[in-house]
Amino acid sequence: MTEIPKNHPRYESLMTREQIAAGVDKGMTSRQGLIAQGRGEAFDYLIGEKTTESADYAEAVAVCLLLLAENPVISVNGNAAALAPAGLVTLARLTDAKLEVNLFHRTEERIRKIIDELKENGADVVLGENAEPLLPLEHERAKVERTGIYDADVIFVPLEDGDRCKVLSEMKKLVIAIDLNPLSRTAQTAHVSVIDNLKRALPNMIRMVPEFKSMNKEDLWEIVQAYDNNIVLMDAIETIKENLTARQNEILGIGRNEKDGGRKKTNDPRQKERMKRNEETARKVMMRGGDLMME
Ligand code: ATP
Repeated sequence: MTEIPKNHPRYESLMTREQIAAGVDKGMTSRQGLIAQGRGEAFDYLIGEKTTESADYAEAVAVCLLLLAENPVISVNGNAAALAPAGLVTLARLTDAKLEVNLFHRTEERIRKIIDELKENGADVVLGENAEPLLPLEHERAKVERTGIYDADVIFVPLEDGDRCKVLSEMKKLVIAIDLNPLSRTAQTAHVSVIDNLKRALPNMIRMVPEFKSMNKEDLWEIVQAYDNNIVLMDAIETIKENLTARQNEILGIGRNEKDGGRKKTNDPRQKERMKRNEETARKVMMRGGDLMME
């Protein structure tokens, strides 16, 4: 791995790149996984590189679902195995979930290497080697294990492909996805879409387990039933919009009063015009949010 100085302003992000690159070197992560990481990074940048309140909520609901499930399965791909092998094993152990390696660009060698990695991180049993073409998808992507993903009632799929996520959702399974892109087909078709970085979401979910484990099942169901995935998706998009608007305003010099100790209000009519447009947009978003909550 390249040495990254800890005080580098983008330390976390660069370290994550190194992890993914190391995953490729180890033969676990596909080259396409590098690109998927890039798309994730871009969305993380827009989201503000932190767990939003709504993502935290989705993570809580995800933990409740895993604890309520009869046959929960955590699906692991090459990116997830490179970024958080120990976290995946810990979450599986705490929620009695099975681990299954499931790859978009499947090769038996990569499956084997990811299984070894998870075992080195403490897993006893990892499914994936005996996968059969059981999903209604063409070729390799259809392959899952009968006693794993195929029989699961709740599936946790960090960084899933949109098609397969849709198919799993249509198979009457409850699907929890982690995907930084709220617009991806995965995020749009999962039942619980965690719009957060896998590296932040997993430790957060692990921290939540003891509290939810101490609650009774009725209370956990109540939390799950009150959940509305549309609100979470909408909030992620709204967060991105707010962050972009804040950055735009910063460039225009709008709203810096508090931060830089009292910048004079502008008389520039173009800036005023933009501020008006922002208010209008904000009003529309609020109305849309209200509509969604009513549905
Ligand atoms: P879909 O098929 O769902 O429309 P896609 O084609 O946009 O997705 P893929 O290339 O299949 O995307 O998968 C990459 C997805 O994983 C991207 O949406 C990206 O935002 C997300 N992603 C990448 N790295 C991370 C990460 N560390 N944490 C969370 N999400 C990530």
